[in-house]
Amino acid sequence: MARTTDVGQGPAYTGRGGRTKREQDNDVRERAAGQAWNVYAGADAHGNDRPTPCRMCGGPVAPAGALYVDRWRAHPECTAQALTIVRGVLGSRHTRSVSERDAELMHAAGLLPDPYVFTIGDPATGVPRSPEAAPVDPWSWVTPRERADLARAVLDKLPELRRADGRAPNAPTWCTDGPCALCGRRLSTSWHTEGHRWAGSKDPAPVCGECYGPYMRAVGVTAHTGGGWTGWTDSRRGVVAAATGMSRDEPYPLPAWAEHHTRADAPPAEPWGHVDPDELERLRVSLWLSGPLANVPAHRRDEIRALRRGDLADVGRRLYAQPWNFTPRAAS
Ligand SMILES: [Zn+2]
Ligand SMILES: [Zn+2]
Repeated sequence: MARTTDVGQGPAYTGRGGRTKREQDNDVRERAAGQAWNVYAGADAHGNDRPTPCRMCGGPVAPAGALYVDRWRAHPECTAQALTIVRGVLGSRHTRSVSERDAELMHAAGLLPDPYVFTIGDPATGVPRSPEAAPVDPWSWVTPRERADLARAVLDKLPELRRADGRAPNAPTWCTDGPCALCGRRLSTSWHTEGHRWAGSKDPAPVCGECYGPYMRAVGVTAHTGGGWTGWTDSRRGVVAAATGMSRDEPYPLPAWAEHHTRADAPPAEPWGHVDPDELERLRVSLWLSGPLANVPAHRRDEIRALRRGDLADVGRRLYAQPWNFTPRAAS
């Protein structure tokens, strides 16, 4: 096999960002496995006639026309960018509003998993990564925990990194896939795709940044990251959390906007404008009476605190006397 040209353009992704606890733990394990590392000291993918692992994602790279970085092969899309890691680990679902600059900031803050080449190797056998070992499924070696951590970092830490970088945490934008699948909002600071579909359609329905946090905290980041969306019945807990801030097991029948509307329907004037405002208020207050006060909007906390101290039986008669009636309104 002829030796192919080393990759010439673009910076190779060789650096590490800040030292996270996980990375420090990795260092300790790497030292412990030092003996095993020596086995591969001379390993080199150049001239190997089998597919070998990509230094970034671990996936197979065929010898014909392969790019090389040092002794490793790399996919063309895996040669340089921090965004490659974010997209590779999370898929496009979480990353529509993550730019290359965002990914670099997250890398510098130590929030990205290391590329394949820097990781410790098979934890069961202690065999380290080698440019000549058998390739694996791309990114399959990233643990569910690391995936969940990264999804949370995009959600919770990226806005602050942008602020420190002198940028607006997020400027509101329209989503080309339509308004929010849950609340119907048209403008939001970030957009996410979690597999939701418009009524009667296979077209993706996006989730706005305002709904995304409480929704994902209620339905579980890892469930979505690994599996995908399984229908509105399974999402009800997240829909209620997006509207109220409270995550409950009871399946309150609050409908999401996309559940009964198509991409072409005009969205409501206000978020959640597709449900009866009195019923939404009744649901919110009834859930705010228990659960963390921090999840109650700041301007309603005094009132809810007073209700909690007061005659709950009387409040209960008002809030729970009738069944919920969230019959969706017709599309406008
Ligand atoms: Zn790759
Ligand atoms: Zn929304």
